[in-house]
Amino acid sequence: MEKPLKSLLAEHGLILKKAYGQNFLTDTFLLDEIVEKAGVNKNDTVLEIGCGAGALTKALSKKAKKVVGFEIDNRLKPVLKQTLDGLDNVEIVFGDIMKQKICDVESKLGGEYIMVANLPYYITTPIIMQFLENAKNIKAMVIMVQEEVAFRLSAKESTSDYGAITVAINLRGSAQVVLRVPREKFTPAPNVDSAVVKIVLEKDKFNGADLSSIRNVVRIAFQNRRKMLVNNLMNGFKISRIDAETALINCGAEITARAENLTAENFVLLTNALKDKGVKL
Ligand code: SAM
Repeated sequence: MEKPLKSLLAEHGLILKKAYGQNFLTDTFLLDEIVEKAGVNKNDTVLEIGCGAGALTKALSKKAKKVVGFEIDNRLKPVLKQTLDGLDNVEIVFGDIMKQKICDVESKLGGEYIMVANLPYYITTPIIMQFLENAKNIKAMVIMVQEEVAFRLSAKESTSDYGAITVAINLRGSAQVVLRVPREKFTPAPNVDSAVVKIVLEKDKFNGADLSSIRNVVRIAFQNRRKMLVNNLMNGFKISRIDAETALINCGAEITARAENLTAENFVLLTNALKDKGVKL
């Protein structure tokens, strides 16, 4: 019989830290549903970020080949030892995931993997960007985030939720909200509802495209999202109106377009069109 979270924490004299986003899940049906939505099976290695008291780690370990978890808070060592007792396919690393080199994390994982994380809100965007930009072997990210962030990650173009991070995701794959999770499911309950987003990564989605230049174009494009894109390109790259307009036409966009109107593919073509004009990206 598993101990309720509150008694487990009390037994170890642990008070949860707001600064680390320590809102834990306890509902085993919900935890199993997250694992199922992640599509984890016996051949999969899983990277879990932020193991907390280990409830999701345990649910993952039942389905995965191997789980490597990162947890910043050393105080959780004895709690995790107790929760994960006897699970020999789990390895926990105590440390700040933001301070790890992705290549070191990937060599520990040893091959392709799925990231599953109930992320603290303050590291959501940096973590997603870090892995999108640097991870080589990641197949999918299945992440619990604030609901409004979930809508941004999975937004369609030409909507107000669509932004630079949506394009960054669409350059490598695609995102979908797979589960909505009300705030009451967490201990303690945060002030907002959450959702699980599944980002499926494709191998070389745009066939060798120069992603670092494209990201630079995306950054400039969204720098002032209310302005017409032509103006952002002129100011950001110090180019003439005619060059900016020609690049937009060549990428299949309207000359009156705003950044939010362009798909990831448009951004790939826009980058090529700017390069053709000799623009330094
Ligand atoms: N996975 C658990 C669950 O679902 O109940 C806990 C999720 S809780 C929202 C986030 C966890 O991430 C906390 O345990 C927190 O200590 C940990 N954490 C916060 N920042 C971190 C970081 N930079 N690196 C690793 N873990 C972190």
